[in-house]
Amino acid sequence: MNAPPLAYLDNAATTRCDPRVAEEVERFLLEEYGNPSSVHPLGVRAARALREARETLARCLEAEPAGVVFTSGGTEADNLAVLGFARAGHGRHLVVGATEHPAVLEAAKALGAEGFETSVVPVDRGGRLEAAAVAGACRPDTAVVAVMMANNEVGTIAPVAEIARAVRAAAPRAAFHVDAVQAFGKVPVSIRACGADSLALSSHKIHGPKGVGALVLAPGRRPSPLFHGGGQEGNLRSGTENVPGIVGFARAASLAAEGVATEAARWRRLRERLARGLAESSPGVVLNGDAERCVPTILSATFPGVPGEALLHHLETRGVFVSTGAACHSKRGGSHVLLACGLPEEAVRSTLRFSFGRFTTEADVDRAVEAVPPLVSELRALAR
Ligand code: PLP
Repeated sequence: MNAPPLAYLDNAATTRCDPRVAEEVERFLLEEYGNPSSVHPLGVRAARALREARETLARCLEAEPAGVVFTSGGTEADNLAVLGFARAGHGRHLVVGATEHPAVLEAAKALGAEGFETSVVPVDRGGRLEAAAVAGACRPDTAVVAVMMANNEVGTIAPVAEIARAVRAAAPRAAFHVDAVQAFGKVPVSIRACGADSLALSSHKIHGPKGVGALVLAPGRRPSPLFHGGGQEGNLRSGTENVPGIVGFARAASLAAEGVATEAARWRRLRERLARGLAESSPGVVLNGDAERCVPTILSATFPGVPGEALLHHLETRGVFVSTGAACHSKRGGSHVLLACGLPEEAVRSTLRFSFGRFTTEADVDRAVEAVPPLVSELRALAR
């Protein structure tokens, strides 16, 4: 398959499925279509594929295969952790970071109706969460602490292992959940190394199919299930397993984990090229996030005085696809992440996110660097 004729720089929203993954998915849609609960050979082979996918995921994350619960994506994994650990826990208090994904923030909010209170921990200007601040928000009745490993809008990486140690000391009975959706495949991720009780992952951010992800649990940890039914996924996620999606996700995960070191170095060079190119050619551009501690695949840039949405649409006419923030905000108004980082509302409206994936090339970055400056000047002049 030929590469699409555009500079797709919106990989934090979603990625193109890797052809090696798509091939596997197709095989399990068209040939190996058995239900893993069936006892005939097609079912037995589907069950084996499911077991192997679980083992692959476990290997990629230094987890136990029994701890891998396949879900419909990152949102469900975050919900299973936040709602499930809260309902199974001893207290009625939650702690979350201010820049969490809505899958965590809205799940915590929904628990308000069940009598839970949530403390939201602020971040600094770079979007960084301090371990002491998270621990300081913990109480004796804290049931769940949820933080993200890498932010989806500015790319900032949280010191999760340090946060885990601080949370264990402050609230030993709390479950510590880490949303690793944007971190996995960009930096090494291990459930052991980050000291988490659970990790949320999503396949479509790593060149796998959409609609599949996982909650990876540390040994002995069990949230309450959200779905009730046939008892699949160790009784934690009833419903016939999405075998083609799961097999594709596992293939995508092993490709992502294998390539992380070489890809990260390449992405860093692309990110530097883009940052330098934008800074040199677009006067006044401000780069957001924490340049020292970030995933190499995300660059958030504010173009003062330029309406970000207009810039985005002009860029798309030149074949450069980016976003104004998270895909889930682009239709809902302002970014809570940029506001939490202390950006004024006007700056939030003038911000674009560029994000890379496996298929991003230097030519894509150069295309963006060439297209942005004249549009910025034009739109600035119009806005005056
Ligand atoms: N968490 C983070 C940090 C994300 O970026 C996303 C997706 O944008 C999700 C969770 C939700 O994942 P999914 O799209 O698989 O539901």
